Amino acid sequence: MKVLYACKNCHSLTSEKVCPQCAVPTSKRWQGYIVIRDPSISQIAAKMNIKKPGKYALKVK
Ligand SMILES: [Zn+2]
Repeated sequence: MKVLYACKNCHSLTSEKVCPQCAVPTSKRWQGYIVIRDPSISQIAAKMNIKKPGKYALKVK
């Protein structure tokens, strides 16, 4: 299994050490994740300010 990193800014999960979307360093220390398929109908996506579908960490340290 590949190591996943979570962006400290947008919480997006990636295998990169820098977030491809916001170019900030990602963290290995995160907990839980959600899959957002359609951000426009997801309350969690609205709360977390997620605009794009994808996998997101719930907590990033
Ligand atoms: Zn990001």
